[in-house]
Amino acid sequence: MSTRNHRIGIALFSGLIYFLSALLTIDPVLDRGVATMWLASPALLALLIVRSRREWRAILIGATIASLAASVVLGCGMIAGLPMAVGRIGEVVVAISLFHRMKMRRGFLGTLARIGRYVLAIGIVAPALGATIAASVAALYHDQTFAQQWRTWFVGHGLGMIALTPLFAMLFSGAIRRWWRGAALPLRGEGVILLAATAIVATGVFGQDRLPLLFLPILPVMLTTFRLGLIGAATSTTILAAIGGYATLHDMGPTNFLGGDLHLRLEFLQLYIASTVLTAFPVAADLSRRQSLYRRLRESEARYRLLADHSSDIVLSLDRRGRIAYVSRSIEPVAGKSPGQLIGTRALELVHPLDRDLVLVAHRDAIHAPTGTQIVEYRAQLAGDALCWFEAHTRAVTDEHGAVTGTVSMIRDVSHRKSLEAELSRAASTDPLTGLVNRRVFDAALAARLDTAARGGRGGCVAVFDLDHFKAVNDRFGHAAGDHVLQCFARIAQGVVGEDDVVARLGGEEFGILFPDADIARAQHLSERLRATLAASRLTHDEISVELTVSAGIATIDAGASATAVLCAADRALYVAKAEGRDRLRLAA
Ligand code: GH3
Ligand code: MG
Ligand code: MG
Repeated sequence: MSTRNHRIGIALFSGLIYFLSALLTIDPVLDRGVATMWLASPALLALLIVRSRREWRAILIGATIASLAASVVLGCGMIAGLPMAVGRIGEVVVAISLFHRMKMRRGFLGTLARIGRYVLAIGIVAPALGATIAASVAALYHDQTFAQQWRTWFVGHGLGMIALTPLFAMLFSGAIRRWWRGAALPLRGEGVILLAATAIVATGVFGQDRLPLLFLPILPVMLTTFRLGLIGAATSTTILAAIGGYATLHDMGPTNFLGGDLHLRLEFLQLYIASTVLTAFPVAADLSRRQSLYRRLRESEARYRLLADHSSDIVLSLDRRGRIAYVSRSIEPVAGKSPGQLIGTRALELVHPLDRDLVLVAHRDAIHAPTGTQIVEYRAQLAGDALCWFEAHTRAVTDEHGAVTGTVSMIRDVSHRKSLEAELSRAASTDPLTGLVNRRVFDAALAARLDTAARGGRGGCVAVFDLDHFKAVNDRFGHAAGDHVLQCFARIAQGVVGEDDVVARLGGEEFGILFPDADIARAQHLSERLRATLAASRLTHDEISVELTVSAGIATIDAGASATAVLCAADRALYVAKAEGRDRLRLAA
């Protein structure tokens, strides 16, 4: 029931609008055979555009009845009124179907391409159809030819729909009301002043026929368009059309320069209005597109700034020369300075001097290879003087022509990871019981010495130490005491040897000492000192006292030898020392 009432209401509303706008217009065919802007078609089209499809039928029925009523009131009767209604309503039906097909009901002036389709659909196709139907009928009643009638209709209806559909649609959809409510007081005032200015200029230009000042009204129309957008374009061109139309119909205005009959002057006016409309609307469309682009840009900028400012990572953007163009707030605790104080300064000053070259290379690489990401780790002295590690991911930033304007980096404090890494690599190279380096490190050091020897330098010497009767220590005092003895030996060994010598636990109770650069005499001297020191020491553990000796074999690191050969030679010498009674050194043969 309520839907039915609603439909009846819609039909009545549509009929009323159609009837009033038809009477407001001088009917192009039935009056003096002249065309002004036909208001009823754009009003009906706008109504269809803004209302839901379910209401179209009611709207069209209301308008058809109103069209018949208008024909009767205008005195041409029902017989001619019927085909006229078919022409009038038919052209609007064609226009709305095209609109629907082109998916243009929302934002039909949003882009230049849409404006093109808009002009084609409602300025050409639809009125051509209406004109054909109406002129066929009117030719029977009037002395004008079919062609004259057709042209009159086509121009009047086409122009009316192009110029007035947006205004009616904005009125019916409430867009104008919403704009008025949403606009600040100064903007409203500006709108009223601009429209009043348009009206005054139009009245001035069309109120006289001494000067051909038709170019003048374009000025306030464009000004209104720039300030108020589509609403400004629609309202100002409507004011211009209304004033121009009234003046021309009353034989006033610069169209009198043409000299010809009213018919010609009105067509000229319509051309003038159409060109004004088609100048203002694309500008308005482009403006609104730019405005929404600008708005979205600002929103996205705000969004990214929010992210950057609340991220624990530092977002840093530099110009090509490495000066800070933007840095997020997270820099503050690191640098002890606010972003404002840092902008314009050289970013490299924040980097530890030792790592500046590395960071500079990454910046240059990012600029020269704009598609890649450069990852660099560097140290920086913090505000509180602590040294921290950072990892920066850097990319180039390009302008719309693809030219590199600078870089943007995401920088993260990786100090924790760095200390973990250092801990891991220390663990991988250290013997946990004695704290000495392990076999891996010893082998690498030996390989490095062999390399030096191969290149003509002095290789040095290697000594292999093996604790004597160590098994007995374990057996008599327990494994823990054994461990303690191993630790004591390591400490004594490190105390005896030189700073550059490498003491390693090779495994079990076997130790290796690398004497880089040393000749055999020095290696022998230090090894002997170690042996003697151990022999003279009493190693105590939990009130147990252990006496311990060690045997060693010493070999030189000669050019051309392999690591295995050097160690085997030392092992053989060690074997001899053991065999000869232990607690002694032997040199490799
Ligand atoms: P030799 O004089 O001939 O070298 O006699 P030795 O008893 O030292 O010889 P052997 O190589 O037979 O014994 C080595 C012992 O060292 C065997 C093993 O139980 C012990 N050992 C190896 N690694 C460790 C360790 O990490 N801790 C302790 N407590 N003992 C170890
Ligand atoms: Mg052994
Ligand atoms: Mg042993």
